[in-house]
Amino acid sequence: MKFGIRKPSLNKRIAARTSWKRVVRHSMGFKAPRGFGWFTNPKRAAYNRIYNRTTVKADRLIGLGIGLLITLIVAIFSAIAGLVQKSTLTSQANTPLCPRCSSQMVLRSGTRGHFYGCSRFPRCRGTRNISAVQNLP
Ligand SMILES: [Zn+2]
Repeated sequence: MKFGIRKPSLNKRIAARTSWKRVVRHSMGFKAPRGFGWFTNPKRAAYNRIYNRTTVKADRLIGLGIGLLITLIVAIFSAIAGLVQKSTLTSQANTPLCPRCSSQMVLRSGTRGHFYGCSRFPRCRGTRNISAVQNLP
C-alpha cells in the first residue's frame, strides 16, 4: 500500500490513456461509464479506490505551491504599495504650504542654498526659508 505523494511519470500518464485494449474497446463503443470498474474488475477497482485516497498527485501539490506563491507575491506587493503610500503621505505632511496660494511646496536648491518653492511655480512664486519652516509648529 502506497501513501503520500505519487511520483509523476509522463510515460505512465500517456500509457494509461493509450492501451490497445482501451482503444479497441472505445472504438467499438464499449465505453464503460464512471464507476463501472466495480463490475469489470472489482479487485482493481478496489485497489484504485484506495490508491486514489491514500496518495496525492504531484500536480495538485505544484498547483497548491503556485497558489501559495501568488498569494505571497500579492501580499508583498500590497505591503510595498502601503509603505510607498505611507512615505509619500509623511513627506507631504512635512512639506509646508505656500504662503500665497496654500498649495504644496517642494524643496528646491538655489544660489543661496535650499528653500521651499511653490509647486505651482512659475504660476506662483511663493517661497519659504527652510529655517522659517523648521520653526513652524
Ligand atoms: Zn503658491
